[in-house]
Amino acid sequence: MTIRIDAIRTGSVRIKSAQVARKALGPLRVMDDPRWSDWLPIYAWLIHHPEGPILVDTGETCRACALGYFPRWHPYYRLAVEFDVRQEQEVGPALWEAGLKPKDIRTVILTHLHTDHAGGLHHFPHSTIWLSAREWCDARGVGGKIRGYVQNRWPKWFAPQLFTFAESIVEPFLGTVAVTAAEDVLIVATPGHTPGHVSVLVRTGGLSYFLAGDASYTEKTLLARIPDGVTLFPGTAVKTLTNILSYAQREQTVYLPSHDPEAERRLRENQIVRVSQDGLSEVSRLRRWV
Ligand SMILES: [Zn+2]
Repeated sequence: MTIRIDAIRTGSVRIKSAQVARKALGPLRVMDDPRWSDWLPIYAWLIHHPEGPILVDTGETCRACALGYFPRWHPYYRLAVEFDVRQEQEVGPALWEAGLKPKDIRTVILTHLHTDHAGGLHHFPHSTIWLSAREWCDARGVGGKIRGYVQNRWPKWFAPQLFTFAESIVEPFLGTVAVTAAEDVLIVATPGHTPGHVSVLVRTGGLSYFLAGDASYTEKTLLARIPDGVTLFPGTAVKTLTNILSYAQREQTVYLPSHDPEAERRLRENQIVRVSQDGLSEVSRLRRWV
């Protein structure tokens, strides 16, 4: 059995343009920016692997569209984000459509705990849910609420399997955790969007599939090394984008962020990131290998 990746689109989100690509004043600009992005996809990724299916992120729930789901006191939810998710678009029903039951998913990896990545958690009471210890720490308590984590929507049974990064086996990332015995599915540290943010690297058929979460919202902002407008750590975010580009310079990499309208097509066409030595960038296509 070869490794295959499916994109699961769990509805759409729209955010402010100043969140997609950072402007001066960062988060403050996001709140009063009158310009909205287009409706963007919310992807979860299903990795069909010989050691068992692995899900990366759980997308958003249709309940996010109901009035009162998010805390009204929080300015971000009042001013800067809108969701469009139908019940049948949730990750649970989408898996049934792919011939799998949520129960079949032993391993769920969360890139981070923001609502549109953790909104489908309630489908997976039987799975082991991997989360970075740093993300768990930042998402909890009063600080977590202020940072926008919707703790009261986490399932009662939610007790993630926490991991820390002891060493790196994939340069230049600062830490790596192997998810499979074959070491072809790896969690890599990509701090920036949040300090505990991680990405998942799937290495198969001569290609690296980089499931980037919100490391950047698009490949374009990766190539331009523009951090998002909500991070409190833009310097760390740029360092991470530089690390991803330097990896992509060495390995043929298909870059798949959670909200890039082009991600599903790039996955289908195995379109790799091309980073040139002089900093200019272009994109080239490869034959489908898997
Ligand atoms: Zn996020």
